[in-house]
Amino acid sequence: MTQCPECEATVENRAMVIGEIFPCRDCGTELEVTGNEPLAVMPAPKEAEDWGE
Ligand SMILES: [Zn+2]
Repeated sequence: MTQCPECEATVENRAMVIGEIFPCRDCGTELEVTGNEPLAVMPAPKEAEDWGE
């Protein structure tokens, strides 16, 4: 199982595209998909895109 690098919550292993950014449903940290099989994620850089707020 892949875990959020920030809060260690389990990241759902659904089909995702490398480079896709999604928020951790637990801590809200934006994660970038860096690998598919197995799923790998890393915190997305917080620069340009600021969703919400
Ligand atoms: Zn998290």
